[in-house]
Amino acid sequence: MLQNQWPAPPLLSPQQLQGHPLGVGIEVYALRLDTLHPLVSGNKWLKLYGWLQTNPSLASNGIISKGGAWSNHVHATAAWCHLHQLPFTAIIKAAAHTRTAMLDDVQQWGGNIIYAHRSEFYNDAHWQAIADAQQLLYIPMGGDGLPGVKGVQDYFDKLTNFTADAVWCATGTGTTAAGILQSSMPFTHFHAVNPGIQDATVDALLHATAATHQKQLQLHHLPNDRFGRCSDATIDCMLQWQSNTGLATDIMYTGKLLHAMQRHYAQTEYSSPQKILLIHTGGLQGNRSHPLLSLQSTGG
Ligand SMILES: *Cc1c(COP(=O)(O)O)cnc(C)c1O
Repeated sequence: MLQNQWPAPPLLSPQQLQGHPLGVGIEVYALRLDTLHPLVSGNKWLKLYGWLQTNPSLASNGIISKGGAWSNHVHATAAWCHLHQLPFTAIIKAAAHTRTAMLDDVQQWGGNIIYAHRSEFYNDAHWQAIADAQQLLYIPMGGDGLPGVKGVQDYFDKLTNFTADAVWCATGTGTTAAGILQSSMPFTHFHAVNPGIQDATVDALLHATAATHQKQLQLHHLPNDRFGRCSDATIDCMLQWQSNTGLATDIMYTGKLLHAMQRHYAQTEYSSPQKILLIHTGGLQGNRSHPLLSLQSTGG
């Protein structure tokens, strides 16, 4: 299939959440990127779209990308390739023969899995050379990098008829947050929630982008949530939000976002009502890794 135009992620409107536990005077809206598509969930389609634009016809030969054994990016990209009948190779940072529900999906969708050790896995030049030799599109881990930022920005540039005092977003590499910060969506404050990743380059990227685009930036860390783990306090918070508002979240990113938001608004006084937008970046498929939540999570 030769193609120059790939479908863009559909534009969603923020939905108001009733019954949230943040108290009176705070209006909460959610941008449910988790509902973009049943399989290609969350912010990963936005970043993928940016990468596809870098060379749409090359992508029609197939894609190589990489991630961990529970990667939401690998999951979304595998689903996307399956839907468009494109060959897909996933480089996975895990011991050979590792099985997870995520990898089972990739295999079921016809993806080819290559297990790589740490040093090999991080050697982008190596994978890029393999992709070049086979005339495939190589997308780095997470769909990150400037094309990923551009894909997110393009999406939020279209959300100009929604205004908020503050936007809340969980960060991994900060690609999604940077795209929102530099978009033309109107807001003044940006809260970035770090899920426990120690990486000063992410903080630097966000500070620089916020300064350039004149946004007030606040970074949040949860002391008891290391990356890849989820504290009981965060799980309690997620379950409370789910029963009060109907919003289901993932344990790695948006669940921690809710917890950080709850702490912030319990500790901070505002003299005027606040309208806040929380970005649900998806990733519910990853809840299958958690024994308590695996029964209620969906494929998306
Ligand atoms: C990948 C991911 C993020 C982090 O996105 P970045 O662009 O790397 O900051 C946030 N939330 C979910 C659910 C993700 O899967």
